[in-house]
Amino acid sequence: MIPVITIDGPSGTGKGTLTDLLAERLGWCSLDSGALYRVLGVAARRQGVALEDADALAGLADSLPVRFVSGRVLLGEDDVSAEIRTEEAGMAASKVAAHPEVRARLLDWQRRMAREPGLVADGRDMGTVVFPAAPLKIFLDASPEVRAERRYKQLKGKGLDANLPQLVRDIRERDARDRNRPVAPLCAADDAILVDSTAMSIAEVLDRVLEEVRR
Ligand code: C5P
Repeated sequence: MIPVITIDGPSGTGKGTLTDLLAERLGWCSLDSGALYRVLGVAARRQGVALEDADALAGLADSLPVRFVSGRVLLGEDDVSAEIRTEEAGMAASKVAAHPEVRARLLDWQRRMAREPGLVADGRDMGTVVFPAAPLKIFLDASPEVRAERRYKQLKGKGLDANLPQLVRDIRERDARDRNRPVAPLCAADDAILVDSTAMSIAEVLDRVLEEVRR
């Protein structure tokens, strides 16, 4: 069986960075499952599909022409890497991801990403639903305020507009939707190791997780 490490948790905890660093360190593949839901949100907007229309979204998910190529995210031949990273795209992703039909259609696609020599999978339900047999599961958390502040610095660093109180509100809203949805709600798997990164640097988080990998 191909080894999988799952990294779950709410947005802004540094899951993506941790996943990339860990995959690089181990020489494994990585899966950014959030990007998949983000691309679906972008595809829905482009095709005029309402984010509430579960059946149409499920149809779209079935034949979603998404590819991850050399760090870029492609929708058909279109590079949507920047477009999927906006706050709107995050919000749209969390709306499409709330439909059980959509999640079911994307399950096999995600499982096929487990390839030799191993996979580090980043998301909300990697350890609970997609890879329940993964031998190492991490649940990464941090306070909403710290996560909003990190996002604020990221946006400012890119010269983009950012409003800290608004970011805190958005994060709380997205957390509430992700935690309260009926299917695959955001929660730690029973056998996950909880890591609170509120007062930790990414290097410290990586060391902590590598400790678990070596066990
Ligand atoms: O991780 P990221 O912020 O890119 O995810 C965007 C949204 O996609 C999340 O807020 C969540 O609603 C959804 N998502 C999900 N399950 C995953 C990954 C992401 O529901 N495995």
